[in-house]
Parts: sequence; structure tokens; C-alpha cells
Amino acid sequence: MKCKDLLIKGKAKSVYTTDTKGKLIVEFRDDITAFDGGKKDVLKNKGCHNAGVSAFFFEYLEKNGVKTHFFTMLDPYHMVVRKLEMIPLEVIVRNIAAGSIVRNYPFREGTLLDPPLIVIDYKDDARHDPMLNDEIIIALKLVTPAELIKIKKVALDVNRLLSVLLAAEGITLVDFKIEFGRKGKTIYLGDEISMDSMRLWDKKTGESLDKDVYRFEKGDVMTIYNQVAQRITRSVKKQ
Ligand code: 5GP
Repeated sequence: MKCKDLLIKGKAKSVYTTDTKGKLIVEFRDDITAFDGGKKDVLKNKGCHNAGVSAFFFEYLEKNGVKTHFFTMLDPYHMVVRKLEMIPLEVIVRNIAAGSIVRNYPFREGTLLDPPLIVIDYKDDARHDPMLNDEIIIALKLVTPAELIKIKKVALDVNRLLSVLLAAEGITLVDFKIEFGRKGKTIYLGDEISMDSMRLWDKKTGESLDKDVYRFEKGDVMTIYNQVAQRITRSVKKQ
């Protein structure tokens, strides 16, 4: 299988059509951006670390009953996925207060959020991904009420499964963002789950192991991404 026509070029990934009906190829590029694209760079090998971690998580989630768009990796940068009708929602699960929830609301950074907080943003760069509530989501007909319940349940399942996996490697899953799509009536987890879309803290040192290293220049991004990709992909052996 190979890439045919470019369908979408996002900030860090490109999506291509293929000759096979119902299948697309996602290319994880070496581009990295932050602050709505206000900060950007190209970091050698970044794409393959994110692709590798995403593929690893998708396989692990599938084995544990979560439906994802993942089929296989073609090479370290290219993932074959199910073609979905993507839903323009960014579903964020937060276990610990950090990032925008601390900037925008009176939470203290590091506060445990138990039960975890689900926050859903409208995926729209021009509007700076505004936070939605259930009523707005339904009024905009972005999903049906039943789909919204399903999406929240899957988001919490993903949180539970990834939290356990990462804890085995001494990593705290602070928060993460996932996206969903539908094929017919079935909802699938799409997009990616990588260091770009999660906030990870080392349990011992509290050090950031994710895109915050790039956002706030906390160290060498690629050294951290390389190390964390290795830690994550060996974590399953400890299960
Ligand atoms: P925050 O709202 O605190 O900026 O982000 C919460 C979590 O969702 C973080 O793990 C962050 O990386 C992820 N996230 C939020 N918005 C986006 C986005 O537009 N793209 C990606 N890749 N991740 C996001």
C-alpha cells in the first residue's frame, strides 16, 4: 500500500488516500508546533517517535476493548488507518490540574482531580478551540446524546488503561487529548495519542516528559521524546 492523494495537511501530520477503499495513510511528520502554531520547528525523528508511541497505544487499547482507527504501520512514519468521518471535538481527560485549566480557572497546578475531569473543546484553530458544554455540543449537532455518552465512557476507559500502563514505567498521566470519528454508527478513536497530545510527569522527579518541554523550553525535546518513547513501549512487558 502507498500514499495516493494528499487529503489533509495538519500542523504535524498529513493524511493521504490509498488505493484501498476505507483505508487512509497518516504520515507523522517531524514538524512540531505550539500555541496555535505560533511556535514551530522541525525536529529530526520526532515523527517516528510519535507514530511509534501512537501505534503502541492503539494496539494496547484495541486488545483491551477500545475500537481505534489503527490497522498497521507501513514504516516508522506511516500508519494505515480506517477512514472515518471525524468529529470536530477535542476530548481532554485531566487527572491532575495543569495547563489551560490552571490558567483559566482557580485550580492550583498539581491538584489531583478525582474523579478525572472531562473537558471537551471545539476543534477550530481560528476560534482557538473554545471549551464546549454538553448543551452546546448537542445544539451544534456535533454528536447525538447517545454518542456523547459513548465518547465520554471511552475517554475514561482510555484514561484508566493508559494510566495503569504508564504508572508501570514511573510516569504519571496528567492529562491527554483524544479525537473520535464515526464509520456508520460506530464510534472509533482516531487521530493520535503521543507525547504531543499528552501531559506526562516523571513520578520521581516531577520532570515533564511531553510537549511542555518544547512549549516552555524545559530541555532537549528530542532527547526526552526518545527516552519516553522507549520507556512507554517497554511498559507493556511489566503488565
Ligand atoms: P491544555 O488544555 O492544558 O493546553 O491541554 C490539555 C491536554 O490536551 C494536554 O495534554 C495537551 O497536550 C492536549 N491538547 C490540548 N489541545 C491540543 C491540541 O490542539 N493538539 C494536541 N496535539 N494536543 C492538545
